[in-house]
Amino acid sequence: MWWCVFLLFFLDTSEAQEVIFGQNKYIEYHVGNLNLILTAPHGGSLTPSSIPSREAGCWERASGKCYYTHSCPVGTATDIANCKVTTVKDLYTQEMVLAVAKEICQLTSGYCPHIVLNNLHRSKLDPNRDKDEAAFAVPAASQAWDEFMGFIQTAKSHMTHGLLIDIHGHSHAENWVELGYLISKANLDSGKFSAADTSIYALSKKRQGTTFSDLLRGGQSLGKLIEQQNASYVSVPSPSNPGPNGGNYFSGGYIVATHGSKVSGDVDAVQIELPKWIRESAERSKFAAILAKALLNYYDVSLAN
Ligand SMILES: [Zn+2]
Repeated sequence: MWWCVFLLFFLDTSEAQEVIFGQNKYIEYHVGNLNLILTAPHGGSLTPSSIPSREAGCWERASGKCYYTHSCPVGTATDIANCKVTTVKDLYTQEMVLAVAKEICQLTSGYCPHIVLNNLHRSKLDPNRDKDEAAFAVPAASQAWDEFMGFIQTAKSHMTHGLLIDIHGHSHAENWVELGYLISKANLDSGKFSAADTSIYALSKKRQGTTFSDLLRGGQSLGKLIEQQNASYVSVPSPSNPGPNGGNYFSGGYIVATHGSKVSGDVDAVQIELPKWIRESAERSKFAAILAKALLNYYDVSLAN
């Protein structure tokens, strides 16, 4: 394992991570020194009254289009049925990101991932949406969205390749770990997809001796690397559950679609959706330790220089 070797050579490098804040501390960036970025876009709690809450966009019946602003353009009206936005906080996902990062820093004796956190409540800003739906054209929220994406770009600017892990929380009855690579649940179940359609396209090209199926849900998959350490963390896709088999499953959103390697570049991305029981304090550190090891075995996050 590369990180065991890594450990032998870098035994005394631990330093506190530098933290950079955006305007009003709405966005927070912990500067890392690994080819790994952890993000939590939905774990924030701040609800400043200066930013009106996101509820629903403006519906234009003729075009079937939603316009995400608080004052509706002529010919449109606020429509909770057609243009509702999601405002639920993903509880304990910031805490999970910090717990996973701490484990990785310890396993590598002071080499840490980059971390980007949104401290605004999702009712004020949703960085896992395009800018319009995310910020409703409110200047302070729009600036925070720019900062969130800007900090990811800053982290990526230090990398020639890397992995972004976007951490979320779901409330699906299956209570499993959902790993999103931009393959819809129907396509995962039917097998109709190709590596080029996914947020780990760059990684698939590097692993020439591995089939994509193996990397996605077989012996080399992140799901396998999690489950083999603790079978109670049932993951999908994985060897145990190659697809959701008609069940509930999130395939990945704006962040992994934009910052992963589907469109371009050598940074791959995976959205990890966690059930509440894993995010809660009784389980969080146990899972964080397992995810940290799984990530280090899944991807060479060491910096080349
Ligand atoms: Zn979320």
